[in-house]
This record gives sequence, structure tokens and C-alpha cells, in this order.
Amino acid sequence: MMEKIRVELTKNPKEKPHLDPLPFGKFFSDHMFLMNYTAGQGWHDARIVPYGPFTLDPSCMVFHYAQEIFEGLKAYRRADGSIWLFRPEENFKRMNNSAVRMSIPEIDVDFCVDAVRQLVALEKDWVPDQKGASLYIRPFIIATDCTVGVHASKTYIFCIILSPSGNYYPEGLDPVHIAIEDEDVRAVRGGTGFTKCGGNYAGSIRASERAEKLGYSQVLWLDGVHRKYIEEVGSMNIMFKIDGKIVTPMLQGSVLPGITRKSILEVARDWGYPVEERLISVDEVLETAANGHMEEMWGTGTAAVVSPVGHIYYEGRDLPIGDGGIGELTQRFYDELTGIQWGTRPDARGWTQKVCD
Ligand SMILES: *Cc1c(COP(=O)(O)O)cnc(C)c1O
Repeated sequence: MMEKIRVELTKNPKEKPHLDPLPFGKFFSDHMFLMNYTAGQGWHDARIVPYGPFTLDPSCMVFHYAQEIFEGLKAYRRADGSIWLFRPEENFKRMNNSAVRMSIPEIDVDFCVDAVRQLVALEKDWVPDQKGASLYIRPFIIATDCTVGVHASKTYIFCIILSPSGNYYPEGLDPVHIAIEDEDVRAVRGGTGFTKCGGNYAGSIRASERAEKLGYSQVLWLDGVHRKYIEEVGSMNIMFKIDGKIVTPMLQGSVLPGITRKSILEVARDWGYPVEERLISVDEVLETAANGHMEEMWGTGTAAVVSPVGHIYYEGRDLPIGDGGIGELTQRFYDELTGIQWGTRPDARGWTQKVCD
């Protein structure tokens, strides 16, 4: 489908950040990957060029109607210095599901994985070696037609940028406090909840700000119709251990199908835990948290991997989960997944691939 990737090297390499811990998503590497789409021609002009700003017309469609999708994955530096990816093809398959929903032309999964590999290999000195730090990879597609009419754009830019980012938990796993949102909703079935599109996040910021004012760092969303069933956290899927079983909301179109979610469920089944993907009401959560049947609760996502939930807030009440600390199984999942990613545990399922030494 695709031609070779042209490479134009920067003449002004940047100073690498020396902060420890590194912040998340604040620094960007020297180069970026770009390609263009034109109706009738398809994706073309794949290239790696010096990192820098776009010049876009103010009428550009992405500014007005948010025809935009993105992905998020990481490159990991192992103890021997080699650099690895975790299930990257899953990200580009999901990007195509997002593309179809948003009337954006699909991309070739293998080509995009190869583009990531070439870009990361070129930028390998940007992959941090601090413990738990990684190179965050952000692919995205924006609609670039210059018109304020609402229709699918005929031109697009696909871009990949790289950000050396610190460990989500510089001091080790730390339980988060989350607020269940009962006013705003994130997504409904038939909408765009299952896609990583910018618009989903713009509409979520107000609830996050409200939660932060109350002292909670994340929002737990309820379904958009009944406002009764648990969906997910801002950028994480949510899971519970109730009476020895692992329970998580089923994927019905409003929840983002996380790659970390999928990986954890596979590990859980391999370890012999019963897994239930089903509806789970806020009442069930409050009840089991109060009567002790809820043993653990955690979020899953690429950024944090696994995030223990210590407390939940709902309509004026704060409830601890278990003793408010880190669940035993939560810690085990974190150790297993990060172990596979950094190569300190065997990767029996073939989830990781080497980029370079
Ligand atoms: C990205 C994201 C997740 C987690 O997906 P991963 O593939 O595990 O990183 C969960 N929910 C939302 C809303 C997201 O944007």
C-alpha cells in the first residue's frame, strides 16, 4: 500500500530533559512522523521530519467540528538498554475502529506499527532509563479541509509525536480517590464512547474539575441513559474484585475498549480467576464496598498500567474500598504487566516486540 518513509533529520537537536521524575507529556523528541491523506489518492508522503508546529488555516475542520482521533502507547527501555513495544498493533486496530466511527479514512496497521518502530529507533536516545519511565507515543489524525461546512473532510494529517515521560507512580503504587459523577455523562451507546476521539475528552473536563475541587483526582462515569451503571474512569477502565470474582463493565459501545483491560482480563483468566463482564450498578458498588464484599477496585490504562482505588465518593458520601490501601491482586497485576513490559517476567503470550538494542 505504502511507499518508503522519507527521513529528514533535524539540524537543531534539543537538550534532553534532566528532571527526575520526568513529568507526563510535557517534553517532545526531535522528530515526528507525518503522512497526508487526499481523497482519490489515499494516504501518501509518509515522512519523518524535525518536530515542529503545523500551519493550519483558521477554517480548518478539526478546529470547528473535532473530526480527530488519537492513540496512546509506550516504548520501554529494558535493563540491557534495548527498547520494546507492548501490543502496538492493538492500538492501530483500535484507531481504525475510531476512524470508521468518525468517517476518517482507515490506516494500514502494519505500516503504522513500522512507522512507530522507525521513529522510535531514530529517537532511541529519548527513551528514558529512570525506573518506570518510558517514551509515550501519541499517534493522531486531524481533518484539514478548509471549510466550515459539516461533512467529512477530504484531507487529513496523520502524525506521531513522542514524549519521554516519568513513572505514573514515582513512589510506588498509590491509591487514587475517585468521584462518581451523577450529572454530566461521557458517552451513550450509539455515540463515540468506544473511540479515542478528542471530543469525548473536551466534554469530560468540567466533571474532572468539580471532582478535583472536592479532593478527588478522577471521575467515575455512569451510563448516559439510566445514570445507574458503572462505565469507566477518565482515561482508565475500571475493575472490581467482589467475593473472589473479577467484575468489569461489559463493552457495549459507550466504554473505551482498553488494551490494558483486555490484557489484565487475559492474565486473570490464566490465573484461574472467574471474570464477569457485565452491568454493575452504582448501588451494587456502594453496597459491596460498605458490607466488605468488595475486596479491591482498580483502574487500568496505558499511562498508569494499574491504579488502585482507595476511596469513592457518591452524592456527598465518601467510602473506603477495603482498608483504603493497595489490594493484593491489584499489586500482582501491576507487577505482572510491568514485568512483561520491562522484560523482567516471561512474555508467554508474545505481547512485546523489540525495536532496537
Ligand atoms: C485510553 C483510554 C483507556 C485505556 O485504554 P488503554 O488501551 O488500556 O490505554 C480507557 N478509557 C478511556 C476513556 C481512554 O481514553
